[in-house]
Amino acid sequence: MKIRLILFLYLATIGICFSQSAMQVGIAKINITPKSPAFMTGYANRDKPSEGVLHDLWAKAIVLSNKQEKMIIVTTDLLGLSHQVSEEVAEKIQGKLGIERRQLMFNSSHTHSGPMIWPSLSVISEYNPADQKIVSEYTQVLVDKLVTVIVNACEHQEPMQVFVGHTSADFAINRRALAAQKNGINLPGPIDHEVPVLKFMNASEEIKAVLFGYACHNTTLMGNNYLINGDYAGFAQIDIEKKIPTATAFFILGCAGDQNPEPRGTVELATKHGSTLADQVVNLVHSKDLKPIKNELQSYFSTIPLKFKKVPVADYQKDLQSPDKFIQRRAKLMLEAYNKGWNTETYTYPIQGIRLGNEFRMIALGGEVVVDYSLRTKKEFPGKNIFVAGYSNEVMCYIPSERVLQEGGYEADSSMIYYGMPGPFENGIEEKIMAAIYLTIKKIK
Ligand SMILES: [Zn+2]
Repeated sequence: MKIRLILFLYLATIGICFSQSAMQVGIAKINITPKSPAFMTGYANRDKPSEGVLHDLWAKAIVLSNKQEKMIIVTTDLLGLSHQVSEEVAEKIQGKLGIERRQLMFNSSHTHSGPMIWPSLSVISEYNPADQKIVSEYTQVLVDKLVTVIVNACEHQEPMQVFVGHTSADFAINRRALAAQKNGINLPGPIDHEVPVLKFMNASEEIKAVLFGYACHNTTLMGNNYLINGDYAGFAQIDIEKKIPTATAFFILGCAGDQNPEPRGTVELATKHGSTLADQVVNLVHSKDLKPIKNELQSYFSTIPLKFKKVPVADYQKDLQSPDKFIQRRAKLMLEAYNKGWNTETYTYPIQGIRLGNEFRMIALGGEVVVDYSLRTKKEFPGKNIFVAGYSNEVMCYIPSERVLQEGGYEADSSMIYYGMPGPFENGIEEKIMAAIYLTIKKIK
């Protein structure tokens, strides 16, 4: 009798703890693999559509809510969403569910083995009208699927306890440092190997979701690959879902702008990097090193104008004669923009913050953000448990730090050609973004 009473009290205590700190959580996933053959994106040298599918691509949504607040995170096995796609989805979701922009975060894994998303990177390929129709049709189907997956996640919620922990993986290297060494110059090469992990467990102690992040370009496979797949991040998610069959795995890409997997070039290596990451995540999930997160949610979203360096129109007129077809296409795009009076001076840049309890904060930055932003934010906010995600909400171009901008090279300058951007950003970009990060952290407290 006594034992039964103790057992009852023990279970009742667990139940009270669970319900007090549990959030309502909903999870959904939807297959976004294009019908093969599809035009792939990420590498400028590809000259034909995809030739098959290695594994499926997914869009996944997780909704967290309590009595006061709601937050939705959407991950995609794609190179990056265009501004048009994420804003159209956000508008539709606001109309259907009353979700504000600040409550909805998108992140892309930046696989270079996925389909082209219209109109991003239009300088990489020139399409005839029939091909353009295929690309824009996929993009419209994607918008509808993203809306569907968010609605599905919101419709099936149950109480869950959320836990957080950190591990690491070591296959990311600073690719600028590697390139500099090859050219005989010795540059320091910052990296960030931290892997934040969130575990979502329901009242039956089933792990329903695992969310994890890493700062490394999703480019183990290169431009000679014509099979659709999610690269190392895709393999890692598949691996985690195999090892924890009750769970959906969500990958968030960090500040990977100047980080590459090493070694790279084969499916075997993409699989290996994926399982390295998955093993670290699964070991942590099954360990006692995770802390429960309090049932508090906060979010904030803003945009800031980032200025480009001024480029004289005459330079683009000269570029029209360039033997490089990409420089030519960018020049055509810029001259069209000048003629039509479009804004070529600034980019409206999105910055978002979310907080779960006091134990996990995520700053979500747009574009291909270099690792300096993650390292600096963590250093300047010790004890705030921050993960800085890049590739969030939209991927418009690279986002260099002041150091990278001064050093020049692909991430600072020449990549802007492929993104169809006017030119490099003006000096002072890092301070502007850091000021916005400070404000965001203040707003989410
Ligand atoms: Zn990239």
